[in-house]
Amino acid sequence: MTEVILVIVLATIGVAAVIVYVSRRGQTPPQHQDLRPYIEGLKALLRGQDEQAFVKLKEAVTLDTENVDAYIRLGGILRRAKKPDQALQIHRDLTFRHNLTPEQKQEILTALYHDFMDLKDDASAIRAANEILTVNPNDRFALTALLRTHEKAEEWKEAAAIRRKLDKLDSLDSSRILALYKVFEGEELISQNEPHRARLFFKEAIHLDKMCLTAYLSIGDSYYTEKRLEDAIGYWTRIITVRPEMGHLVFERLKKGFFEVGRYGDYAETLTGLLQAYPTHLTARLELAYFMEKKGEMEAARDHYSAALDNHPDSMLAKLGLYRMHWGAGKREAADAVFKQIMKMAVKREAGSLRCRTCGLDVETMIWRCPRCKTVDSFEPVKS
Ligand SMILES: [Zn+2]
Repeated sequence: MTEVILVIVLATIGVAAVIVYVSRRGQTPPQHQDLRPYIEGLKALLRGQDEQAFVKLKEAVTLDTENVDAYIRLGGILRRAKKPDQALQIHRDLTFRHNLTPEQKQEILTALYHDFMDLKDDASAIRAANEILTVNPNDRFALTALLRTHEKAEEWKEAAAIRRKLDKLDSLDSSRILALYKVFEGEELISQNEPHRARLFFKEAIHLDKMCLTAYLSIGDSYYTEKRLEDAIGYWTRIITVRPEMGHLVFERLKKGFFEVGRYGDYAETLTGLLQAYPTHLTARLELAYFMEKKGEMEAARDHYSAALDNHPDSMLAKLGLYRMHWGAGKREAADAVFKQIMKMAVKREAGSLRCRTCGLDVETMIWRCPRCKTVDSFEPVKS
């Protein structure tokens, strides 16, 4: 009994082996198995040897006209050799094939995008990028290419839509840039004399990014143009609240605004508030010192100049202010001491520094070997 089963099993295996052999021989003619030229072509590409790669890949497509990848790469080599029209021809021919996989379609369209860009045919390039998205809506290359195009064309709504998509794909957060897009849209409306609608965009920008300084500036400026001074001052001041270190962006505006509404003292108060939040802010300190000086409060002014120098000993403006205060108060000796420091700083600035010819490192005194790039005798004076 077991012998009979064994014979049947052996016979079955034998028949199966013959079927496999025959079918294999029928399916794959020997010349299709020669992948050597293709592989050698790829290796040459990896080594950056385009010419050699071209020869091998051409051999590969002669052996197997179905090797779409080899064709794509041949086109790429031609494009790099500054023959984009020939590259385009090869890549375009591929699009007419019927048995392409989605991945192949994507790669061909990507190649076409580059060909068109090199041919300065932006419109066709964009069409290619859009077509990639019909094959794969999440293709990052196509999305990024379209994003660049929209940004260049100042099409902020379209650019924003793509950025949101890319954000979602890569869990990024572009709210800062999205806010700037809104500001740009608003600015466009300002130039069309539509301040009210413009401000809606600026406010959306702030909603997206509370730190969007340019939005606060633009709202303030547009209110100022409409003579709504208090509103303007309100928005400008918010820059100081949101980012005290950037407060100097609005000093001139605030000074003018407060002066025009007759609340000049509030300017000093604003500066004082800023300095409480950010005591080392040099510009605010100098502004306040100068304000006090003009008001005739010389002691307060001197204290502010001194405080400025505590944190910024190299500030020429603070030194000059302090010199003026001492001189005005009849303190000749103190004034002279500050004056000498000013002279020293001025001489140093006039003399300029020395710069390494090789790596660009700046130094104050002559050295004979660069500590950064180790070049010997490489320093020469910077002409100012
Ligand atoms: Zn160097």
